[in-house]
Amino acid sequence: MNCPNCGGAVPPNVNRCMKCGSYVERTIAPPVMPPPMQMPGVGFPPAVDMTPQKSRLVAGLLGIFLGGLGVHRFYLGDIGIGLAQLLISLVGGSLTCGILAIPVVLWGITEGVLILVGVIKRDGEGRELTA
Ligand SMILES: [Zn+2]
Repeated sequence: MNCPNCGGAVPPNVNRCMKCGSYVERTIAPPVMPPPMQMPGVGFPPAVDMTPQKSRLVAGLLGIFLGGLGVHRFYLGDIGIGLAQLLISLVGGSLTCGILAIPVVLWGITEGVLILVGVIKRDGEGRELTA
């Protein structure tokens, strides 16, 4: 680097000419930024839904025969309602000599029938049931 005023050599780590004392403008290279981190999942196509469609017949029959335990709800992916039915049947039923399990069984049978006749036609994730 040379002084623009007198042409004398300027040491690399000072910005003032040692010979004439004039200020030397030093272009400071911008700090090299690392390339932005690729966020996982960004820039990739959305994950393909590989879960097979649920069968209306299977869900309906599970509701009719095992609906009191919420099995059809687990099958459809409605884990919350399935758990509620299971807990009411098992815990509530055992505390009431099975009495509390009866409405849950009827609830399951009703849902099983509604699934079979097509009133309930979507699974817990909103996907259409197959025949
Ligand atoms: Zn100079």
